[in-house]
Amino acid sequence: MKKFSIVIAGGGSTYTPEIILMLLDNLDRLPLRSIKLYDNDEERQNHVAKACEILIKEKDPTIEYVATTDPEVAYTDVDFVLAHIRVGKLEMRSLDEKIPLKYGVVGQETCGPGGMAYGLRSIPGVLENIEYMEKYSPNAWMLNYSNPASIVAEACRRFKPNSRVINICDMPIGMEHTIARILGFKSRKEMCIRYYGLNHFGWWTSIKDKDGKEYIQDLIAHQLKYGNCLADDDASNYTDSSWFDTAKKVKDIIAIDPTMCPNSYFQYYLFGDDMVAHTDPNYTRADQVVDTREKRVFGECARIEKVGTAKDTTLQIGIHAEFIVDLATALAFNTHERMLLIVPNNGAISNFEKDAMVEIPCIVGKDGYEPLTVGEIPHFQKGLMEQQVNCEKLVVDAYEQHSYLKMLQALTLNKCVPNANVARKILDDFIEANKAYWPELK
Ligand code: NAD
Repeated sequence: MKKFSIVIAGGGSTYTPEIILMLLDNLDRLPLRSIKLYDNDEERQNHVAKACEILIKEKDPTIEYVATTDPEVAYTDVDFVLAHIRVGKLEMRSLDEKIPLKYGVVGQETCGPGGMAYGLRSIPGVLENIEYMEKYSPNAWMLNYSNPASIVAEACRRFKPNSRVINICDMPIGMEHTIARILGFKSRKEMCIRYYGLNHFGWWTSIKDKDGKEYIQDLIAHQLKYGNCLADDDASNYTDSSWFDTAKKVKDIIAIDPTMCPNSYFQYYLFGDDMVAHTDPNYTRADQVVDTREKRVFGECARIEKVGTAKDTTLQIGIHAEFIVDLATALAFNTHERMLLIVPNNGAISNFEKDAMVEIPCIVGKDGYEPLTVGEIPHFQKGLMEQQVNCEKLVVDAYEQHSYLKMLQALTLNKCVPNANVARKILDDFIEANKAYWPELK
């Protein structure tokens, strides 16, 4: 069986060790000859680099390993690029969240105003990595899950239309693990789902078992009562209580349209005031990630490096990373697996913009993906999606034209921002904070 070579771009991410564990656990499905880490920040990558080397050598010493900040070394002779970069790192995420909060607005790091700021930072970083791939390994595929995924995907569609890049997100998969438990399936893979929307902005419209029995009405009835929690759930079943609150909040979201099951991210766009009321403006999600996840992962990697073995490690396989192996396997072995991807609409949603990047089920094989048809969508979903997609397109316009006005329009249009006065204040603060990253807007 052919063996593959992988580079993880954004090697210094706290998700890197979990992704490596997932890859090592799936060598029978996706055999590997080489794993490389690439980051443009050596110091940060060094937090995980040595521990990753030990994990790999202890599992399969035949796999070559290198951690580098040299794009040529990283991108030469690779089959897959797993890209999860965060331009500006968590320090900038913190500002994406806190600046809007100053004006009583939820920041929200992907689709809210925080996401707009993050998008303008991310576009050049993602394009740069695509260019490295095309220069050094033109036949490779990039599996890109760098956020904010919708804006990054729109930039790929516009500036790199022929590139071998597939944009993907694990968020619906995370919710499907719970949905499977609610409906009594052993695994989410027993469910055949229909879903449509934008990234972090979509709805499940059908969930069938292998015999074709429909379960969506059962799920709607459950979510109207309990949200996306099990009936007897409590906060102790969640890694932190905010995830429990998020799962419960689905009850309020679905009450607005009980014909389909919403992504829990709608809490930010439809109930922004509730989110603001429950957020400490001086301690947001970014601070929480630094104090919990980053401390835990970097601390454990330092311990592995010190003792020289990962035999008794507390690092766990990233369950969210399974979609990466599924996608790479589908491309490598033409499995025709059905997966949710972020792709150009091109008529799949028949009453929605052709050139919008939508998140819909696709069939994946060796030549890439083939989107499935969705058909017409109702006014409520269409209205929300049109507002959001145009807001995201305006961010890419602002990047392309270095335009203050386009960015102001993007923020004014954003569902989380109440009016143009507030949009302007947020934008002016964002410009100050993002001087090292954004193009100069005129
Ligand atoms: P992180 O800050 O821990 O790590 C990101 C790394 O990217 C950093 O080490 C940084 O130095 C590096 N980086 C920044 N710009 C780069 C560039 N131009 N080239 C190479 N490396 C660069 O971030 P994180 O919390 O691990 O998240 C990483 C990314 O993955 C984010 O965009 C996050 O939103 C995304 N993410 C996506 C999903 C999904 O399914 N869509 C799931 C989890 C995380």
